[in-house]
Amino acid sequence: MVHALNHIGDLLELSGAGRFRSGAYRNAARAIRDMPTDQLHSLVRAGELAQVRGIGPSTLSVIVELIETGESSYLERLRAEVPEGLVELLDIPGFGPERISKLHADLGVDSLDTLEAAARDGRLAALPRMGSRTVAKILAGIERVREQRGMALYPHALVEANLLLVVVAGHSSVERAAVAGMVRRKCEVIGEIDIVAAVRGDCAAVAAELTSVPNMREPSKATDGSVAVRLVDGTRLNLHCVQAGEFAVALWRATGSPEHVREIEQHAKTRGLTVARNRLLDTKRTPKPIASEAEFYAALGLPYIEPELREGLGEVRAAIDNELPALITADDIRGVLHCHTQYSDGSASIDQMVASARARGWSYLGISDHSRAAAYAGGLSTEAVYAQHAEIDRINDELRGASSDFRVLKGIEADILIDGRLDYEPELLDQFDYAIGSVHSRFALDQAAMTERVLRAMDDPHLTILGHPTGRLLLRREPYAIDIESILAKAAALGVAIELNADPRRLDLDWRHCQVAKRLGCAIEIGPDAHSVAGLSNVEIGVGIARKGWLGPADVLNATGSADVLKWAVSRRAGA
Ligand SMILES: [Zn+2]
Ligand SMILES: [Zn+2]
Repeated sequence: MVHALNHIGDLLELSGAGRFRSGAYRNAARAIRDMPTDQLHSLVRAGELAQVRGIGPSTLSVIVELIETGESSYLERLRAEVPEGLVELLDIPGFGPERISKLHADLGVDSLDTLEAAARDGRLAALPRMGSRTVAKILAGIERVREQRGMALYPHALVEANLLLVVVAGHSSVERAAVAGMVRRKCEVIGEIDIVAAVRGDCAAVAAELTSVPNMREPSKATDGSVAVRLVDGTRLNLHCVQAGEFAVALWRATGSPEHVREIEQHAKTRGLTVARNRLLDTKRTPKPIASEAEFYAALGLPYIEPELREGLGEVRAAIDNELPALITADDIRGVLHCHTQYSDGSASIDQMVASARARGWSYLGISDHSRAAAYAGGLSTEAVYAQHAEIDRINDELRGASSDFRVLKGIEADILIDGRLDYEPELLDQFDYAIGSVHSRFALDQAAMTERVLRAMDDPHLTILGHPTGRLLLRREPYAIDIESILAKAAALGVAIELNADPRRLDLDWRHCQVAKRLGCAIEIGPDAHSVAGLSNVEIGVGIARKGWLGPADVLNATGSADVLKWAVSRRAGA
């Protein structure tokens, strides 16, 4: 809602409608920014929103439409009117409508391409107050916008893929259909959705009919049963229509990365077999019947390779050598250690979080609210820490009284301060069962300084777990500069667990580093970083990423029981 109103303000300004009209939408966005959703809805129902300062008649009608339909016809109209190239420039860090309008007037910049040309041929640098560093920053910004065009976070892509699957599977000629590609491999950001469909009759004809999927922007011509459709949010749908007998091999082909597919094709050749499109041909080039992916791999003399592993990063070699790892599953998770409550910036009480954790079949829940230095997130004062601990003691007493083995653990997400100290005095840190240390500020340090800061934090034996170790926000903020290998090596040596933060916007530690961590012997904690009851479900996404990183239950701290977690923290604190 706030985003939509601000976006209308930006578009109005870009369209030349003037700052007065765009200002009205920015004021409205500001007026409702801090308003809880139910309050906003009840004000609208009571017809009282117009009395709120900052809301005018035109903004009111837009808000009402957004609440009732989730959309704004006014926003849609503006989007159609303002040149797409100009709108795209808004995504460059530091670019607002005023700056864009000025560059448009001065240099004729109207898209990423024309902006890049002006940056490269020196016209941009010739403008007043535009140094070479600023130009370099703008070029980097253009690069990032290009990279992220049409990229979606995993959970969004998953929802979209499942909606599209329903449409495809519902077609009268489709016998069965499945999601493949990056979504099935559980990649953290996704640019293309792949769906494989077994169809009756002419594949190309069915594919052509299916190009009218919802949210389609550009239809595309079906060739030999494959069709690519560009969706309104920029993501691409690749639909692969095949005969029923080809479904398993087609699903395999549409799931693996190009490297995985190539390596498997090469391996087939070494056994005298040929993977020809969606069929496996024997030595006489006769198609072998293949009913499932497991049968396909077996026909090649290989164990089944889980979709998450099919990245072409050593899994084919490991399969040939019969050394594939036994991957962790969500059922292996015994409890979680990273969640926030109403004590800091979470939306649920400890009781509510505990009830949900128990319903999920876990045997413990560690509460890790923000520490004092994180003032923006309601970090806990010393008094609040003691009040929270009293509440946790009360809940644990009740659990014991009810003969439950479930335990609530006293944790904290302590800021790693600029000098590498943990927030709070050692005496207070002693009161917690464990501490997650996280960097939440001063991200711009150079690599040597940031690495030193985190290495120093690990020297404090209170630090049990290093939280979201690179600080990245997917599609929004790059990881901070840090020498992750030396961090992992020291963590392994000292017995500090490394977090795989399972918030789908973070997924940090990156799965590509999980294999390194595992090789070095680091324990990994999969932390939902939940700020609500629903946020506890992040764990499942984190488990998917852990699987991509080849991790098994033995590599994961919270795949052990609460007694083992406590033992881990105690031995760490004893410096043992
Ligand atoms: Zn954090
Ligand atoms: Zn957190």
